[in-house]
Amino acid sequence: MTQRVALITGGIGGIGTAICQRMANDGMRVIAAHHPAEDEAAAEWRANQAADGFDIEILSLDVSSYDECAEKLGQLLSDYGSVDVIVNCAGITRDSSFKKMQKNQWYDVINVNLNSVFNVTQPLWNAMLENGFGRIVNISSVNGQRGQFGQANYSAAKAGMHGFTMALAQEGAAKGVTVNTVSPGYVATAMTDAIREDVRDAIVAGIPMGRMASVAEVASAVHFLVGESHGYITGANLPVNGGLFIS
Ligand code: NAD
Repeated sequence: MTQRVALITGGIGGIGTAICQRMANDGMRVIAAHHPAEDEAAAEWRANQAADGFDIEILSLDVSSYDECAEKLGQLLSDYGSVDVIVNCAGITRDSSFKKMQKNQWYDVINVNLNSVFNVTQPLWNAMLENGFGRIVNISSVNGQRGQFGQANYSAAKAGMHGFTMALAQEGAAKGVTVNTVSPGYVATAMTDAIREDVRDAIVAGIPMGRMASVAEVASAVHFLVGESHGYITGANLPVNGGLFIS
């Protein structure tokens, strides 16, 4: 069987790294896309991955830029022949109560977390349909399912991602392209390390499993959805939240 090519945005971040490693272990050719401001960090990251036995390529890509994605992903497609798996994992938070939320906090989060799925997926979509195979996984959040105080921007973007998943799943279904969402709860990463300790303790106390997820547990859900034999699962929103929100 031909080796699948997987593009992971936010690929050098906490969850992204675990997804890249899992896809590499699955035998895929993996490309970790990272923000252009992280060019140096990404080169170092790549060397560290190689030292740990993971052969992962890197791509400098601002997912919030339509033009940059169109150009660089068009090039990627012609260089690699196909991109079979996309994991839209790049994301940011700019938390604020709505009362105090600034225009840039709203627009930055919508651009990076939601407009990015359009920017990244569209240049690769037609080729997936033509190839008759594709796996797209959008990394949303429990807070897109239940809302969160101080995250009107983030909750809106993450809920929007799953709307995108459900619509695109219908467009890909007859062509072997599945589109799914993974909605993590709280995951032990730099993003959650940045939460004030007492607030973090209160969050953990409210999780039925009494702990945050590991990044490997989120990667495991992605691994499941992109599997060759899981082509009948599409339009789903898979929670990885330790029982924090059950719908
Ligand atoms: P992270 O900050 O470690 O990784 C996010 C990555 O996205 C970073 O490498 C960052 O540079 C990159 N990025 C940001 N803006 C970008 C842009 N414009 N272009 C390209 N790349 C950009 O965060 P993480 O915890 O690994 O989160 C990964 C994803 O999982 C995010 O979408 C996040 O919203 C989601 N998520 C995280 C948690 C959690 O608890 N950590 C929970 C639920 C959902």
